[in-house]
Amino acid sequence: MPELPEIEIVKRSLFKMINKARIVDIKINNKDLRYKVSHTSLKKLINKKILRISRRSKYLIFHFKNKLLLVHLGMSGKFLVKRKKNIKNLLMDQTFVSGLGNIYVNETLFLSKIHPLRQCNNVENKSIKNIISNIKKILKISINRGGSSIKDFKNIYGTNGNFQDFFNVYGRENKNCSRISCNGKIKKISISNRSSFYCTNCQY
Ligand SMILES: [Zn+2]
Repeated sequence: MPELPEIEIVKRSLFKMINKARIVDIKINNKDLRYKVSHTSLKKLINKKILRISRRSKYLIFHFKNKLLLVHLGMSGKFLVKRKKNIKNLLMDQTFVSGLGNIYVNETLFLSKIHPLRQCNNVENKSIKNIISNIKKILKISINRGGSSIKDFKNIYGTNGNFQDFFNVYGRENKNCSRISCNGKIKKISISNRSSFYCTNCQY
């Protein structure tokens, strides 16, 4: 079940996508919902414009003229992926995940075994959960280390280590993948003018 930050992320990303959009059709994909969804009452939303999305605790509220739709995201943040954008750019989007800089987006994708150019709508729910938990993990590490900049890393680790030693993928162009079980090499590409490093073997 998604926790509050995920729901807030879903809310913001949905807002960017569908604000002021009109409902054209209603489709019920999952018949095993906790509460029975009435198709007839949902159909009343067809042609209505989404005016606003707000959040109350774990519920998302879609505001229509004279109507509200209450949504509880029972499972994963499934809405997240329905975007035609690559995952690297999505994670770099500050309004989407604030505070996750380029280095950590690289590291998150490496941990999640996701190729940075993978289209968001091709990322399975399982992988989204994985990405979210890796973001949390990485942000925690970054906070504990006092920042994400290369300079900060040097301050913390002193002269013994090169900052690159502390990353699994960032800055490791042409080196062997850090996964012991993988014999891939790290490749560097540029995505929206930012360096992107990934393993050609285990990230797809
Ligand atoms: Zn690899």
